[in-house]
Amino acid sequence: MTSHLPSTGAALAETGDLDALMASARQIRDAAWGRRITYSRKAFVPLTNMCRDTCGYCTFVKHPSSPEARIMTPEQVLAEARRGEREGCKELLFSLGEKPELRYEAARKGLERLGYSRLTDYLRDMCELVLRETSLLPHVNAGTLTDEEIDVLKPVSASMGMMLETVSRRLTRKGQPHHACPDKTPVQRLRTLERAGEKRVPFTTGLLIGIGETWEERIEALHAINAAHARHGHVQEVIIQNFQRKPDIEMANHPEPGLEDMLRTIAAARVILSPEISLQAPPNLSARHIAYLDAGINDWGGISPVTIDFINPQHDWPEIRSLARSCEAAGFELRERLTVYPRYLTGNAGFINPSVRTRALGMAGGTGLAREQRHIGETA
Ligand code: SF4
Repeated sequence: MTSHLPSTGAALAETGDLDALMASARQIRDAAWGRRITYSRKAFVPLTNMCRDTCGYCTFVKHPSSPEARIMTPEQVLAEARRGEREGCKELLFSLGEKPELRYEAARKGLERLGYSRLTDYLRDMCELVLRETSLLPHVNAGTLTDEEIDVLKPVSASMGMMLETVSRRLTRKGQPHHACPDKTPVQRLRTLERAGEKRVPFTTGLLIGIGETWEERIEALHAINAAHARHGHVQEVIIQNFQRKPDIEMANHPEPGLEDMLRTIAAARVILSPEISLQAPPNLSARHIAYLDAGINDWGGISPVTIDFINPQHDWPEIRSLARSCEAAGFELRERLTVYPRYLTGNAGFINPSVRTRALGMAGGTGLAREQRHIGETA
């Protein structure tokens, strides 16, 4: 797979006029993805909110001494999965803090009570439980992973993800958001991105913008993702996520990126990344998200009809039918996809465990998107 970097697009991404950059991005999006905007209907399972890292913008993480710190039990996981199933979800997103058992006694004890010594093994078994007891496809968002951990998780998941976030090493210094976060050193995240490619895992990654990185660092991160994809063909989607201020975080007074910043970054991503990589931005983190369509996105990511966005709990998901109407008014049709993108289901042998692939193919229509389109009451 070759890197898509038209010289005009590259120049525009670095310096140029926003309107021209967005026009270029739209052209690439329309040619590769047409006027169809996708989303994944998902149930969200925050398996544990304990984490050995302490990112300055994180509201998800709870210190083990907090009464809210927890590891979900298998019964709780299954209850969430069943709730999602009843509402037509196809994806179960496992999201969790990184390796809390390596730092906290309370996390080790919590895992021991469940019969485990390592979170990855518990996660593996919860994926298996979901596959055995429900019709959902697990997507695993477990942060940095070793080769061995990917080997453990790949057979029981349809896809995996980890936000690269940034390649800025400056942000790991004292006073910066990734200080003392071993899993947020760029080299560790780039290694996981690379390993996922070597192991042929359909992979979701992305940038978190507005946490103190420079524009050049954003561009560098996009090139790094694209280069990994060029080597392995595994990056199914890239998310451009905007930092959100919350009252209870270290960065409570840090400015949020504005709409123009989001549009410029989305458009730059579209011209830098290979056109076959889906480009996504979350619809619940800006009231003006429909404008992202003009900057070249083709996907809204996971939207849950049953659970809140645990990462940004103050921002409700849009109601899916009303999002469909807004897309239609902007000249796009909203369609539901599976967690794994169509090209990994057909003709890309080795990207998914055969039994998970069979399940996914059974859920897919002729286009590779979800056969049941619950929000419009149709089958595709
Ligand atoms: S690694 Fe993730 S869960 Fe852990 S503190 Fe950072 S953002 Fe929060």
